[in-house]
Amino acid sequence: MTKKYDVIVIGAGPGGMTAALYASRANLSVLMLDRGIYGGQMNNTAEVENYPGFKSILGPDLAKEMFESSTQFDAEYAYGNVEDVSVDDNGVKTIKTDSDTFETNALIIATGSQYKKLGVPGEQEYGGRGVSYCAVCDGAFFKNRDVVVVGGGDSAIEEGSYLSQLVKEVNVVHRRDKLRAQKILQDRAFENPKMKFTWDTVLTGIEGDGKKVTSVKTMNKKTGDEENISVDGVFIYVGLVPMTEPFQNLGITDEQGWIVTNENMATKIPGVFAIGDVRKKELRQITTAVGDGGIAGQGAYSYLETLKD
Ligand code: FAD
Ligand code: NAP
Repeated sequence: MTKKYDVIVIGAGPGGMTAALYASRANLSVLMLDRGIYGGQMNNTAEVENYPGFKSILGPDLAKEMFESSTQFDAEYAYGNVEDVSVDDNGVKTIKTDSDTFETNALIIATGSQYKKLGVPGEQEYGGRGVSYCAVCDGAFFKNRDVVVVGGGDSAIEEGSYLSQLVKEVNVVHRRDKLRAQKILQDRAFENPKMKFTWDTVLTGIEGDGKKVTSVKTMNKKTGDEENISVDGVFIYVGLVPMTEPFQNLGITDEQGWIVTNENMATKIPGVFAIGDVRKKELRQITTAVGDGGIAGQGAYSYLETLKD
């Protein structure tokens, strides 16, 4: 049986939860669908220091706080891996998950992004056996061991700093000689005695003994020098890819897959909004996802009002 809601939000990260809060507080029936636990990327974040109201809060704790407030006006939350979305000539949006079908007039896409793979030999083979994309989830397995962190952005430096509290040494391997991360994160990392930096260097392979990672192969891009570094863990933070596969047929994404919206979070399809990290934008943060969510929740209300005319 097809279930109907005024507003359906796909993704229950900070963006989706805020959209659900605003739309349900406007007395609309709202369903949030997520294929994982609510909270999105906040569940993979150790400490959040740049969300107003909290000097510092653990990512999963912030997720719980947000979930409680986002459901206080009866927004529903359900498991669902969205596989397909279509829009008919009357503007009705049909959302198909692996087990259910839903209909709505106002759809808010808040599916965020996922880590990018490095694509080197050994990465897939040793996934979960020394290769990780989540310091909070796997850091404890590397207590007093040596790890390599790949990347030079906020994720690599922030999660590298977190790892340094657990491991013996964090070797940040970066393809350039300058970090992309925010200055405050850089300053802390450069002062951290347990973090070292290998500049202008790329990983060319990850090797192991068949059971777990034992070393990485690197190449200096300037000199061409190759090295084999003994390590127990490899944490990869080389950027993000948008989670937009179910929406490809709607024609709302750019060439890289990010969803294009206007400043009101509206896509070119009336009644379809996109918010947070999945959107083509400059700054992907919890604060900006939350801001997008408020705008889209209110935008969905206004759109539904126009249908009454
Ligand atoms: P997400 O948080 O990515 O949530 C998307 C949700 O959609 C997920 O729950 C996912 O399961 C769901 N979903 C995806 N596809 C489907 C589908 N097909 N069907 C159903 N559900 C689906 N920002 C800060 O402000 N401060 C920080 O300290 C900080 N630290 C970070 C550390 C790391 C390691 C990373 C990776 C990011 C960090 N960020 C930080 C960025 C911040 O986490 C994101 O900007 C924010 O979570 C984006 O929120 P969102 O709601 O757009 O998407
Ligand atoms: P990012 O900003 O895209 O950085 C990716 C890093 O990986 C860059 O340094 C890049 O190098 C490098 N890289 C990319 N492809 C590579 C490859 N094939 N081989 C080697 N290195 C490669 O991604 P991110 O750090 O995951 O951050 C994603 C978003 O989340 C950002 O918007 C960020 O601000 C946000 N975030 C915020 C916080 C926070 O506020 N505290 C924390 C984490 C993440 P180049 O520098 O040479 O391009």
